[in-house]
Amino acid sequence: MTEQINSSLLPVTILTGFLGAGKTTLINYLLENNHNEKTIIIENEYGPVNIDSNLLNVSTDIQIVEITNGCICCTIQGELTEALHQLHAKRIAGELHFDRLIIETTGLADPAPIIQTFFIDELIRETIQLDAIVTLVDAKHILTHLDEHRVALSQIGFADRIILTKTDCVDDEQKNHVINRLHHINHKAMIIEAVNGQLPKSAWLDIHAFDLSDELNINRGLFVIDTSQKHQSPGFKLIPLKKSHSLKNDEICTYLFEAKELNLKKIGSFMEQLVEHYGNDMLRYKGVLAIQGNAQRLVVQGVHKVVGFDYGSPWQNEQEKVSKLIVISRPLPFDELNQAFLKTMEI
Ligand SMILES: [Zn+2]
Repeated sequence: MTEQINSSLLPVTILTGFLGAGKTTLINYLLENNHNEKTIIIENEYGPVNIDSNLLNVSTDIQIVEITNGCICCTIQGELTEALHQLHAKRIAGELHFDRLIIETTGLADPAPIIQTFFIDELIRETIQLDAIVTLVDAKHILTHLDEHRVALSQIGFADRIILTKTDCVDDEQKNHVINRLHHINHKAMIIEAVNGQLPKSAWLDIHAFDLSDELNINRGLFVIDTSQKHQSPGFKLIPLKKSHSLKNDEICTYLFEAKELNLKKIGSFMEQLVEHYGNDMLRYKGVLAIQGNAQRLVVQGVHKVVGFDYGSPWQNEQEKVSKLIVISRPLPFDELNQAFLKTMEI
């Protein structure tokens, strides 16, 4: 399926996270260690005085476009589209050369309308490839943020990758508790620990989260930089999830549907109903499904009511044929939906 992806499309990463989560530190580290490509950063900050841009070490490898007169997720959504159109025009005209775009949102931005920009606008859809939503989470303050701001929950729910910062400011118990809560909200995102924003770019760029790939990863713990392989390209090692007691129930959480081989027509109408009735509540969902009489995996992926289907690679053997659908959503009538999902196994 990778042949579908046009390599001339500009990759864009949406970087979210509450104020103080370390977005600027992460970007600075990237810029200091990424001299072989040119990056454009669209920075959205409130107010006319932009303190943050002074913190960024601007060089020839990077250009910053500032949108300061409102928030691109609500008050001035059109300005993001406008900025993307202008960048495209300059790129086509050869006035501006860049290989990558990063959109740094305000701490209070809801990713949903920003993501929608990439699916709604035709020119943007044809020229830009949304790579991933990356959310920075400050281990010290996130539990308070989650309790006080719905948008913090939304930022985690939408994430393809979660970067956990400031873990040196908390004890092991709090760290474990934070990881459990993140996992409960979003089973799909890989959680990676960053120490002082020092993360190789492979940890958060070119993730291809919006490709219809047939991988369905379920987060199993915390990934940390593997220092035992210092002299090779940086790898990560997994520290498995340790269960934490008395976990709070968040309004957004992950639902996992699992079954054997499904009837194509039945799963088609199940998905249609699901998206029609609950699409507004479903932040992200992905399924890798086994279809009766079909050797290939069926991949389904969506954001709210925008959904894509495609066939993926063939199953290797019969035992492997398990259908899995992950849905990150506001409360769903899971038992009822699960019954209906299981019924799609009928011939
Ligand atoms: Zn907003």
